[in-house]
Amino acid sequence: MATKSLLCVQMLLLTSIVFVVLGHEAVKSEQYPLVVSTWPFVEAVRAAWRAVDAGFSSVDAVIEGCSACEELRCDGTVGPGGSPDENGETTIDALVMDGATMEVGAVAAMRYVKDGIRAARLVMQHTKHTLLVGEKASAFAISMGLPGPTNLSSTESMEKWTKWKQNHCQPNFWKNVIPVNSCGPYHGKDSLKLSDRTCSEDSLLGNIESSSSHFSVNNHDTISMAVIDKGGHIAVGTSTNGATFKIPGRVGDGPIVGSSAYADDEVGACGATGDGDIMMRFLPCYQVVESMRLGMEPKLAAKDAISRIARKFPDFVGAVFAVNKNGEHAGACYGWTFQYSVRRPLMDDVKVVTVHPHSLP
Ligand code: ASP
Repeated sequence: MATKSLLCVQMLLLTSIVFVVLGHEAVKSEQYPLVVSTWPFVEAVRAAWRAVDAGFSSVDAVIEGCSACEELRCDGTVGPGGSPDENGETTIDALVMDGATMEVGAVAAMRYVKDGIRAARLVMQHTKHTLLVGEKASAFAISMGLPGPTNLSSTESMEKWTKWKQNHCQPNFWKNVIPVNSCGPYHGKDSLKLSDRTCSEDSLLGNIESSSSHFSVNNHDTISMAVIDKGGHIAVGTSTNGATFKIPGRVGDGPIVGSSAYADDEVGACGATGDGDIMMRFLPCYQVVESMRLGMEPKLAAKDAISRIARKFPDFVGAVFAVNKNGEHAGACYGWTFQYSVRRPLMDDVKVVTVHPHSLP
């Protein structure tokens, strides 16, 4: 009798263990893998999904997803052929982060090489550095086997640039300079002694404050992607050609870890897009992940990170998505309507989520 009831208890225990394990697996398999990306970059999410669903790692999937976007030139602001700078040149910023090891690779203002995310991965895999910039990043990428040197301009980017030149280089990213309504060369308004100013320069000075940075919905975008693989490991990646008519040498938030993206297996991940010149001052994605670490839900963490920026820069435009390690996701935005894309098990295809801007907190 004693043996029988022991057997019963053992069977019960075994059943419940199996149930728990199966239950856990069942929940897990609904949560993972997961792909989240800024904007309706549906093809990029599908590419990442194919990789991660086939069992590849989150880093591999991020590379596949961001690469697809670079090839497709998503929105004209990812990959080659978009966002000409003041000289008409397209340059690329990209980053990859492995949330299992906290390793990061990034390239900034990279010239002549179109494969931003693959170059970032080479930095992560084959160097002890985190970020390579400019022509030296290009030389590194080419030496490691990526195609180049390549002209990154396109007919569209050159047409855009020519029109901008004809429009006296307006709008632009300069401030407190003269001349205001022409292409420069510029000098700081404070560097001129009053006695040196000509009448026409004086009248131009009156217009200085009307020249703003002109980040708008149409002149920039970033793919920022997070993937959780079947093992629960998280990676993030970004790629962008930055802001249209940027001052040559400008680096946006795209390759700045903690700003455009951040991941930690212990907590979750975040991706950002928007006015990178402002956003990188706040490291919004680091903020989101750290807020979630302290117990905030993704929605609140995303909102909080955006509010911190909006309180100081009420004119900025930007957005973040947040995803925790359980696969719960949310977005927040300010100054524009934001969309992000999601693919997970039990979904037939990618779903695009629309997030409406919230008002100044
Ligand atoms: N954050 C990017 C940059 O400033 C642009 C964008 O995501 O819209 O370069």
